[in-house]
Amino acid sequence: MQIARVALPVPIDRLYSYTVPESMRTWMRPGRRVVVPFGKRKLAGVVIEEGSEADLKGFKARDILDVDVELPPLPAELLELTRWLATYYMCAWGEALRAALPPGSASATARTRVQTVAMVDYNEEGPDSLPRGDRQRAIVEQMRIWHTSERTPVPQQDVLAECGGTAATIRRLVDLGYLFVEQEERDRFQEERRDVEGSSRPELHAAQQRAVDAACRAIQEERFETFLLHGVTGSGKTEVYLRVLEEVRKRGQTAIVLVPEISLTPQTVRRFRSRFGDEVAVLHSRMGDGERYDAWRGIGEGRYPIVIGPRSAILAPLTNPALIIVDEEHESSYKQFDPAPRYHARDVAVMRAARTKAACILGSATPSLESLANAREGKYTLLEMPERVPVAGKPARLPNIRIVDLRNEPELKGSTNALSGPLLDGISERASRGEQTILLLNRRGFAPVMECIDCGWVPECTDCSVSMVYHKPLNHLRCHYCGITQPPARVCPSCSGKDLAFQGAGTQRLESELAARAPDVRVLRMDLDTTSKKGSHHDILEQFGKGEADVLLGTQMVAKGLDFEKVTLVGIIRAEAGLQLPDIRAEERAFQLLTQVAGRAGRADLEGEVILQCMDPGHPIIQFALRHDYAGFAQYALSTRSVLGYPPTGRLVSILFSGPDDEETRKAAERFRTLVDSHLTDVDRLGPSPAFIHRLKNRFRHQILLKVPQIVPSSRVREGLGKAEKAMGSLPQSIRMTIDVDPAGLV
Ligand code: ADP
Ligand code: ZN
Ligand code: ZN
Repeated sequence: MQIARVALPVPIDRLYSYTVPESMRTWMRPGRRVVVPFGKRKLAGVVIEEGSEADLKGFKARDILDVDVELPPLPAELLELTRWLATYYMCAWGEALRAALPPGSASATARTRVQTVAMVDYNEEGPDSLPRGDRQRAIVEQMRIWHTSERTPVPQQDVLAECGGTAATIRRLVDLGYLFVEQEERDRFQEERRDVEGSSRPELHAAQQRAVDAACRAIQEERFETFLLHGVTGSGKTEVYLRVLEEVRKRGQTAIVLVPEISLTPQTVRRFRSRFGDEVAVLHSRMGDGERYDAWRGIGEGRYPIVIGPRSAILAPLTNPALIIVDEEHESSYKQFDPAPRYHARDVAVMRAARTKAACILGSATPSLESLANAREGKYTLLEMPERVPVAGKPARLPNIRIVDLRNEPELKGSTNALSGPLLDGISERASRGEQTILLLNRRGFAPVMECIDCGWVPECTDCSVSMVYHKPLNHLRCHYCGITQPPARVCPSCSGKDLAFQGAGTQRLESELAARAPDVRVLRMDLDTTSKKGSHHDILEQFGKGEADVLLGTQMVAKGLDFEKVTLVGIIRAEAGLQLPDIRAEERAFQLLTQVAGRAGRADLEGEVILQCMDPGHPIIQFALRHDYAGFAQYALSTRSVLGYPPTGRLVSILFSGPDDEETRKAAERFRTLVDSHLTDVDRLGPSPAFIHRLKNRFRHQILLKVPQIVPSSRVREGLGKAEKAMGSLPQSIRMTIDVDPAGLV
C-alpha cells in the first residue's frame, strides 16, 4: 500500500490521505493503527483503505509517521460496525474507532508497546575455559548450575540480582560466546490472572432449558436473533448464559459478554472462569494501559474466544462473534457520554450481532422499556423465567417486602437518625442469628448536605450548580461533579446564623448511627470513598462473604450482582430517593433499583425480607416494587412515555451547548434552535433551556431536546442537523456543542 486513507479522531467525518514510506508498505493494511501529522499536531488513527494518486490532488501529501505492527489490525467487521456507529451516533468514524482501540493507543504521543524482558541462556558449546574477571566467572558458573537443573533461560534481571554486574557484563559474555540473550514478550495481561476451582453444573429447570434451546437453535442455524431474557433475580440467568456459551465453544466460535462495570465482581468472574478457564479474557476499567494493550492483542490474535467486560468490550477485536450477551441490559452505564462516540453498548451489541449473524441475549429482571417494546413488536424474542431457582426441592420465593412509613416514626423526628425502629431491630436480630443485612442508601438526590436551620442556606459548588456533600473523615465538603473541596462553614454566610446542621444521611453518617445505636453489629461500608483504591471493592465483598461483618451498607454499588447466602434482610433507607429527579427515566431507575436490591435477600434456603423505609408509601412505583409487579410498572410507565412521545414511543436527541459565559451560550443555543426549526420540521423541538445541572465545572449548559417520532428515520434527523450545523458556521472558540443520540438521562 503506497497511499493510505486514514480515519482520525477529529469531529469532522471524512478520511485523510497520506503517503506510506517504503519501510512501512508491507505492514500497511486496513485496520492498522497509525500515527500521522495533522496540521501542527500528531494524531493516532486507523487505516481504512488504500488510496490512489487522485486522493492526493490539490495538497502536499505527507508521510505516515508510525505504524503499530504489534497490534493486530482491526477486523473488517469492526471497521464496518464503527462506520455504522459513527453514522447513528453522529460522530466522526475516527472518533468511533478510538473506542475500538485499547485506551493507551488512542493518543499519538504516548503509545503503549509490547513489553519485552531479556532472557539469558547458557551456551553449552561455549568456550571450555572460564572468563577472566571474577564477576564474569561468577555469572557463567551460576548460569551453568541453573542450566544443569533446567532452570534456564533466566530473566537478565534475576541473573544480575544474584551475581552482580551490569547489562554490559552480560553483553560481554554473549560476545565471548558463553551466553545467549533473547528478548521475550511479557504478557502483562496474563499475569493478573488467578486459578479457579471448578464449579458444579446444575440440571437446568424447564424455563432455563427453553431459553437455552432457543438461543442454541439460532447459533446452530447461524441466524441473527435477539432474545430478551426476562428472569426475576435468582431465576438462573447466568446459568443460561453459561450453557449457551458452551454451545458456542463446542462449535469453536467466539462470544462477548457485557456486564455493568459494577457487577464485574469476583463472584461473577469466577463463574465464567471455572467453566471456561483460560479461554476467558476479563476486561475492566481498572486495568493499566499495558495490561489492556496486551489483552487487546491476545483477543485480536484469537487467544481468548470469550471476552467479558463493561460497555467498551462490545468493540473488542474478536473475529465474528457468534453470541453476544448483555447482562442487566437496562443499566444506564452501557451508555457512554463523554467523549464521543456517545454510544449505547446494548444497541451496538444488537447491531454487531445482526452483522455477524449472531445470537444476542439481553438479560434482566427489569428490562428497559425500550427492549420490552421491541419484544412486544416482535423484533426480539421474549424468554421468560418468572420463578426463582428452587432450593433443595422447595420452590424459592421472592422476599417479603415490608413498608415502614417514616412519618409514623416519632423517634426519627427532629434527629439526624435514619434508621427506623423496625429496621434497627431487624438488623440486630439477624446479627444475633449469624445472618447478614444489606443496607442501601441511594445517594442520588439524597446525600449529607449542610443546611442553615434558620434560613435554609445550603453550600453549593462555586463552579457547578450542585450542593456540596459532607465527608466526615476528612471533615470537608466536596463537589461530586468536579471534585473540588472546601472546609465546612461554621457560620451561615447568608444570615450569620450558627445553627448549621446536616440534612439527610450519607453512608458515613449511617455508619456512625449504627455504631451508636447497635454497637455490637459489625459494619462494612461500600461507596465511592471506600472503593477508590484498586482491589478494595473486591476486598470488601470478600470480607462480607466470609462473614466478617453483619451489615454491608452502601450506595447503588451494593444493589447489583451480589449473591450472598447469609443475607436475609435488605433495608432501603429512603425508597423514594431519586424519584423526584427531573429525568424521564427517574421512575424507571427507581423501580429497577428497588427490585434489584430486593432480589439480594434470601437467595439460598433462608427466607428473605426487605424493609423499605419511605415517606410516601402510596407512590405507584413503591407499590409496584412492593408487589414485585414488573408488568404493572411497565404498563404504567409505557403509557406516560407514549403520551409524552418519549422512548420507546419516540427517540430523543439532546443537543447540549456549554460555555463559560451564560448569556453567550444561551444565545448560541437559541440561534441553533431557529436553524433546526427550518431544517427539521417533522420532529418535536424543545428548548433551549438551562440543563438540570446548569453550571458544571464553571461552564454554563443549555439544552435543546428533539423528540423524534418513530416514523421519522434517523437519517432524516442526521441530515437536518447536518444542514443546521452548516448554516450555523463555526461557534465561538469557548462554546462547545455536543450531540447525544438516545441520551441516558437529561443532564
Ligand atoms: P440470576 O442471574 O438470574 O440472578 P443465577 O444464575 O445467579 O440467577 O442463579 C441463582 C443461583 O441459583 C446461583 O447460585 C446458581 O448457581 C443457582 N442455579 C442456577 N440454575 C440452577 C439450576 N438449574 N439448579 C440449581 N441451581 C441453579
Ligand atoms: Zn442562614
Ligand atoms: Zn463542582
